[in-house]
Amino acid sequence: MNQILITADRLWDGTGSPTLVRPVLRIADDKIDSVERALLPPASCSGERIDFPGCTILPGLIDTHVHLVMSAQETNEAIIAQVTSETEAQLLARIEANAQAALRSGLTTIRDCGGTKTHVQQVRDRIRRGDISGPDILACGSPITTTRGHCHWLGLVADTCDEVERAAQRMLAEDADFLKVMATGGNMTASSDPMKAQYEGPTLMRIADIGRGANKHAAAHVLSRSALPSVVAARYRTIEHCDWRVEEYRYEFDPELARKIVDQNQFVGLTMSGLARRAFLPQVKQFDIGPVKRMDARFACERQMLDFGVRYTLHSDAGVRLCPIDRFSLGLRAAEVELKLTPSEILRAVTSSAAEAICLPDRGILQAGKRADLIVVEGDPLRDLRCLEKVVAVMKAGRWYHRMM
Ligand SMILES: [Zn+2]
Repeated sequence: MNQILITADRLWDGTGSPTLVRPVLRIADDKIDSVERALLPPASCSGERIDFPGCTILPGLIDTHVHLVMSAQETNEAIIAQVTSETEAQLLARIEANAQAALRSGLTTIRDCGGTKTHVQQVRDRIRRGDISGPDILACGSPITTTRGHCHWLGLVADTCDEVERAAQRMLAEDADFLKVMATGGNMTASSDPMKAQYEGPTLMRIADIGRGANKHAAAHVLSRSALPSVVAARYRTIEHCDWRVEEYRYEFDPELARKIVDQNQFVGLTMSGLARRAFLPQVKQFDIGPVKRMDARFACERQMLDFGVRYTLHSDAGVRLCPIDRFSLGLRAAEVELKLTPSEILRAVTSSAAEAICLPDRGILQAGKRADLIVVEGDPLRDLRCLEKVVAVMKAGRWYHRMM
């Protein structure tokens, strides 16, 4: 058995419990063997022993919504032109580079919510085999969307219920880990309308059912209230963006609908992407576009949803404009400013809650028996989230991938 003993100034376990001072974390192979408080010098350990003075140990971070194939350029047009014109080799190279950058920045698991063909699955499998380094990836293949609908340029168009069924089956045959549907139009695709539902209720139900039949979860992109009742009725595991918008600048929270989301243990994914980082990106203020102009209304409505008790993750939507995959912490700092969440609430959303949302019960918490996915950061991120920018070590499944001390 391969043993590693890790000590640091602090450990935060992912559950929201108070920080453990002077912890000793024992790793055995790919799992956590024990988490203890070091009252006495740690007992001898047959394997490696490493101390991180001045640092905090945390569970590996989980981003539940990224797009590895996209390049985070400044305009949607530039991103779309690149994705639709590049060669297979170029697309695969970017997916791989983004995956590696994600791992270095402390993300040990990411869920890709829409790529081209089977490219993300190919990179996922190379990482799984150990051919290259990278985080664990859950991939949906491409998102299911309508003709000229949101992200139709990713290539999985289906309009009728039969076509949608075939599209979902195809994604499963291509070894997708979950199914993703664009339930409304999106901001990125000019020919789609974010205010309109793209599918009827029974069609959305069919996709979620096909997922359940294959023991896979499903995610729905929702940018307005129009599709929300059917997405809730179909019990999608995660509701991406979960926008309660009813008119251009009006959001309308509905406690009855929120009650169902809570009762059915659905998770909403709140999007802290480039535009939502306005507090830190001065150029965002100059964008004269809807998503920026209605940001205050959006955050106020999301705060209502959180106060109601809806469970949530915080994701980056990395790859979209101004949102590189290795700046996850900036989105978390934006959540602190905009949603008035505490660092502990924010970190829970991207560790234990994220793991539960995407159905990976083996991670997200530092506790005996869980997979040894962890990061070590300088300082105390529970006091200052900027510490997440100083990642000194990343371990995935008991193996160091990045260690600066
Ligand atoms: Zn997205």
